[in-house]
Amino acid sequence: MRRQTPDRPVSPRPLSALRGLSPFLRPYRARIALAFVLLCLASATILVVPLAFRDLLDAGFGGEAAVSGGLFGADNLDARFVGLFALAALWALTVAARYYTVSWIGERVTADLRSAVYARVLGQSPQFFETLQTGEVLSRLTGDTTLIQTVVGSSVSMGLRSLFQFVGGMVMLAVTSVQLFGLIFGLMALLALPIVAIGRRVRKLSRESQDRIADASALAGEILNAMPTVQAFTQEHNEARRFAARSETSFVAAVRRTKVRALLTGLIIAAVMGTIIFVLWIGAQQVQAGVLSVGELGAFVLYAALVAGGAGTLAEVWGDVMRAGGATERLLELLHAESAIREPATPQRPQWDEQVSIRFEHVGFSYPARPTVRALDDICLDIAPGERVALVGPSGAGKTSLLQLLLRFYEASSGCIRFNGQDIRALTLHDLRAAIAIVPQEPVIFSASALANIRYGRPSASDAEVLAAAQAAAADEFIARLPEGYASFLGERGTRLSGGQRQRVAIARAILKGAQVLLLDEATSALDAESEVLVQQGLAAAMQGRTTLIITHRLATVQQVDRIVVLEEGRIVETGTPADLRRQGGLYARLAALQLDL
Ligand code: ATP
Repeated sequence: MRRQTPDRPVSPRPLSALRGLSPFLRPYRARIALAFVLLCLASATILVVPLAFRDLLDAGFGGEAAVSGGLFGADNLDARFVGLFALAALWALTVAARYYTVSWIGERVTADLRSAVYARVLGQSPQFFETLQTGEVLSRLTGDTTLIQTVVGSSVSMGLRSLFQFVGGMVMLAVTSVQLFGLIFGLMALLALPIVAIGRRVRKLSRESQDRIADASALAGEILNAMPTVQAFTQEHNEARRFAARSETSFVAAVRRTKVRALLTGLIIAAVMGTIIFVLWIGAQQVQAGVLSVGELGAFVLYAALVAGGAGTLAEVWGDVMRAGGATERLLELLHAESAIREPATPQRPQWDEQVSIRFEHVGFSYPARPTVRALDDICLDIAPGERVALVGPSGAGKTSLLQLLLRFYEASSGCIRFNGQDIRALTLHDLRAAIAIVPQEPVIFSASALANIRYGRPSASDAEVLAAAQAAAADEFIARLPEGYASFLGERGTRLSGGQRQRVAIARAILKGAQVLLLDEATSALDAESEVLVQQGLAAAMQGRTTLIITHRLATVQQVDRIVVLEEGRIVETGTPADLRRQGGLYARLAALQLDL
């Protein structure tokens, strides 16, 4: 089940969180510099446009005497228009180039970040996934990186452009008419206060509405993954109702946000238009009085519009930056996650060729989630090279835990495990795991062809080798009967196979790997008697010369092993050949009597 993630507050220091992105930005310094230059050019161009308008107005409509010469140094009206066209073309060009460059950087950085986080997550031990659900990792990889992409790929450039526009516009306002600037500045300051306050409320409501949408998707995700159970218990209507209720809650939250947002939009339009009209009114009086030219008033109004537009965008961008700050923090948390399993600083080379002996020396282990419970206690066991050992015992005795420690999915709390005398902690995880082939309790089938699924055991294997492994695992016959044989797609999570067929694919995969150690965790539990006989033959061939550990509840299947180890409550209680143990009359003998009717 997907764990409900608590609502996360937006980071109080979004800017410092964003600084964590700098290693991802650094490789693209040259492009960032180019984007900055283009940004400056575009902003400078837009700031010149009102000046050109001023000249046009004064030259064309306000009387030639007002400004002779003008911005483009020509008195001729046509030349002024050509100049204006050139400005517009330059602006269009710089904006397009900037848009491309900045978006490229955004997409690039996001792709790099996504891959880096994914690679890091793949290196984590199972302990990591006990606390962080896969659904959450996925939402971080998609949702959070998209937020960052928005900020890096557009908001930052929009913000800078608006800042230039805002500051440049203010300066130009002051240059054009100090008196009107003073007036507009005072009005803006007065109106900014309620707008900022309402803006903050909009942000809070947006977050709430997003959280409600996430709740609804989480529910849908969980239910869609459990469809057979939902339908078997005829819960479709209930589930549909439950989802509709969550959708309704998200609708209500969205409407609440929209109401405040609508109010804010109206207020901003009223404030901006009101201020401009008011300034126009005062300006018109000044034009009548001969203090200001028509062109200057026109330019002033354009600058005022630029400043207002800049301020609006800045506020919007700030919201994005705040949200991206939180997203960055969450992603960096994943990126800096340390695996609980440490690789050795100076790893030893593995000291084995064909065969491996395994030795458990006083191994004790508690799962990190339950530190007070001993899953394994003082396990001492010597397994000779090529020996076949069965681990039996009641459910929860610690059999699977023992295999987890061998693979170093978890670290033993005390004692040590040796392969050919070497402490497994002195080896790299890659070397250790390369020597082990496992058939897990619940075999995993990837959404790929049968051929690709078996080849997962050894990607370099030839088709003939894959076929031989499938034959050994008694998988050949059912795969050949699939519509497209080995090329048949096995469906997501192997849904197009029966449990026993999935196990046979997993066994073929392990046989193909051909590692020195073979671990079978209830590998044949889902097989019928006939298939089991076939698979046992395949497994017997695979076990030949390999150190093998078999976990099984079906004692009939362990008659061929060299030794049986009986576990109970994390301790080894008996060891010996099947015949020895039956004679001793202990736990194994009791279990065997029940199962085998002996
Ligand atoms: P079964 O035959 O049912 O598969 P097992 O002998 O393989 O059982 P283990 O899976 O090794 O038993 O479990 C041993 C004990 O450790 C059990 O009590 C189990 O509840 C506990 N355990 C297993 N996995 C975890 C985990 N990830 N976190 C905490 N405790 C765990």
